[in-house]
Order: sequence, then C-alpha cells, then structure tokens
Amino acid sequence: MTAAPVGIGSVLIVDDSHVQRSYALSICRELGIEKLHEASNGREALALLTALSPRPELVIVDLEMPTMDGPEFLVKLQERGFDIPVIVASSRERALIDTVREMGGVLGLHVLAAVQKPLQADVLRQAIQSAEGRELRRSAQRAELAIDAAALSDALERNEIYVHYQPKADIRTGIVRGVEALARWTHPTLGPIPPDQFIPVAERNQLIHRLTIDVMNQAMLQSSAWRARGLHLPVAINLSPMLLERSDLALEIASLQQCHGLTPDQIVIEITESSLVTRVGTALSVLAQLRLRGFGLSIDDYGTGFSSMQQLARIPFTELKIDRSFVRGAPERDSLQVILRSAIEMANRLGLVTVAEGVETLQEWRMLQEFGCTLGQGWLIARPMPGDDLIGWMKQYRVQAAQLRA
Ligand code: C2E
Ligand code: CA
Ligand code: CA
Repeated sequence: MTAAPVGIGSVLIVDDSHVQRSYALSICRELGIEKLHEASNGREALALLTALSPRPELVIVDLEMPTMDGPEFLVKLQERGFDIPVIVASSRERALIDTVREMGGVLGLHVLAAVQKPLQADVLRQAIQSAEGRELRRSAQRAELAIDAAALSDALERNEIYVHYQPKADIRTGIVRGVEALARWTHPTLGPIPPDQFIPVAERNQLIHRLTIDVMNQAMLQSSAWRARGLHLPVAINLSPMLLERSDLALEIASLQQCHGLTPDQIVIEITESSLVTRVGTALSVLAQLRLRGFGLSIDDYGTGFSSMQQLARIPFTELKIDRSFVRGAPERDSLQVILRSAIEMANRLGLVTVAEGVETLQEWRMLQEFGCTLGQGWLIARPMPGDDLIGWMKQYRVQAAQLRA
C-alpha cells in the first residue's frame, strides 16, 4: 500500500535491535521519508547528529539500549542544544513510556509522541503531521539561517520587531480577560523568525533591554488605543529574568506606563522561572518594587524550572502560568492531570490567578474547568494576532465563547 508522503525528508532511528530498526526503517520508507539514518545506541546517535549536516528532521528512539539508553540520550540532546523533534518508541509498559515523555517535556525537548511498539505507520504519520510537528519543522528550517546580533540590532533600528496579541479567556465563561504581547520579527528577506530564536540572541548580546522596551512601548500604545475604543484589557508582557538585574527597571516601566496614561493594574509582567538570576538581591528588590506599584507579576512556564516553591513563597507573584507541556494531551494522561491539579490547587491556596497555556482542544478546556483553573490561553481560543484585529475577532468569538461556558 502506498500513501501520500508524510512531509519530512529525513529521520534517525535509534534502537539496539537490528530487527526493530529494520522494521522502523521500512515504515519510514512507506511514509515517503527518503533519508534514513540509524544508530544502535544513544552514543552512536549523538555522534551521528553532530556529524550530519543538515541534521535529520526527526529522531525515533528506543528506551532500553546498552551503552547509552533512551532517557540518558534525551538528557544529552538537551545539554547539547539539539532542537530536534523526538518520538519515543518502546515495548515497555505505558506508564514508563509516559514518564520518559514527561521527562523530555520538562527538559524542553519536543517529544511529539511516546508510543508502544510495534510501530504503526498511521500513528507515526499522525505525530509527524501534528500541528506541533509542522510548526517545529518550519522553525528548524529557519534556524539554519544565521541570525546574529548585527542583524537583530538592524531590525530594532528599522522597527522590524512588532507585537502580536494572544487572548487569555476565563475558563468558566469563555470571556476574554486579557492578552499576552508576543514579539514578532519579519526579516525583509528571510521572512518570519520565531522569538525562540531571536530572544536568546538578544539576551546574549545586550539587546534584550532595547527589545523589551520596544515591545512594552508598542503594547502600551496598543492598550491605550483599545481603551479609546472602550476595550479595557490587561496586557501581559514577557520579561527576561536577566533584566531584573537592572536596579532602575521598575522605575523605567512605571514611567512608560504613566507616559501612556495607563494604570499599573492593566499590566502584567510575565517572568519565566527557568532562568537563573545571578544578582538575586537586586532581582527581588525590582520585583517587590513592581508589585508595590501595583503591576501584576506572573510566573511563566511554571513546571519547567526549579525551586518553584521557594520562589513562590519569596516573591509577591499574582499569577501562575502553567507551561503548555503539562496541558497538551493531559486528558489522556493521568500523570499530567495529577501535576495540573496540584499546581492549580496550590496556586488557589496562595491566592494566585492560574493560567493554563497551550490549550488546543475542547477536552483540555473542559478538564481545566473541572480542575478550577482561572484562565486559559491557546489555539482553541485564538492564535496570536495583530492588535488591530482583536476587536473584530472578539465580535466573531462570541458564538464560540458561549460554547465554552461551563
Ligand atoms: P511563552 O511566553 O511561553 O509564550 C507562549 C508561546 O506559546 C507563544 O509562542 C505562543 O504563540 C505559543 N502558543 C500559544 N498558544 C499555543 C497553543 O495552543 N499551542 C502551541 N503549541 N503553542 C501555543 P511564541 O510567540 O513563539 O513565543 C515563544 C516564546 O518567546 C514565548 O514563550 C516567550 O518566552 C518568548 N517571547 C516572546 N515575546 C517576547 C518578548 O517580548 N520578550 C521576551 N523576553 N520573551 C518573549
Ligand atoms: Ca509568556
Ligand atoms: Ca510559557
């Protein structure tokens, strides 16, 4: 039987069993994948990944292997910064496979699926063609293009960085309660470049302050424009933790807010818990100042970093954003539900607003409703959009909102 090609050109199969490898290769061939690479353990696979250019677009990895097993291989992938989509395939029990998938998610790897062997062509096809799989491939293709500090600096100079907004909606009623500002860059020749690529460049090259102020200015301008049209929505802005080392940051944000005629409670500052801050004292003082002035403070990507509890107790946060790796697929996975439920309960007890990121399906939405989460954000509600589109979108969203109501 021949079917339509699956849309990727190369794959690396990592499995110690020759029979299993051949079987996986035959399925990939059946899916129309042309370049097939194989390795019999994690170490061999890493060596191949380092040597191959271009890199394979997908890795399918077994769990039990001599020399370097699946879990260790995943840790090494992360440590070496290989940003390749992974599918975990094993003949071990479901719970164990799910745990490894979870581990991959926590490490920040893109685990598209965790499947039980024998591999099946349609299961593989589904994972590869999932929205996430497609998105990842697009950004991987662009990652090959060089984005350096000079290009980014020029972009800031030429005002090529702009902002899109993604709604956050009330989980009980579906009503829009705020938006998150997300930086966008369309390079004149390279096209759209994802923030996961240019934000790290900005952070490494002392451009992040300029970029953040630029984004804040645009977001606040947009917010005043919405207010002028009767729409009062808090705007969330992402802040790199390294900026917390600037002792005058709170003052700077406050003067921007005043310039735009906004009140601080209309602005939420989202900070990821994953990155480390070296000057902890200054960071704490900036956070305290922001909170004292009345800005909202949100812990972003909750669950992916460390010392979560300690941070929560120490810093006057107002909101907890649960990372999308805990939301996606949760209705089918008991272990994710346990994590979600306990994060929401803890946040509720601490008096924090909870936001679930990356809600893509109605099932996920209903589950969050049951768990008592406050807000949901994700493609189910809307993709990030230009500020000018928001009011029009809200009009047509009303019908959908009614269906989301508990
Ligand atoms: P984040 O803060 O976790 O932002 C949410 C990301 O999830 C956004 O990716 C958004 O487009 C994506 N997303 C939203 N709903 C869904 C969904 O249902 N499914 C899936 N699969 N994804 C969804 P985006 O825009 O690519 O931004 C990536 C990251 O870049 C952000 O992650 C944030 O950490 C960073 N970033 C974006 N803008 C800024 C900025 O102005 N300053 C800083 N420091 N970081 C920024
Ligand atoms: Ca965020
Ligand atoms: Ca996040």
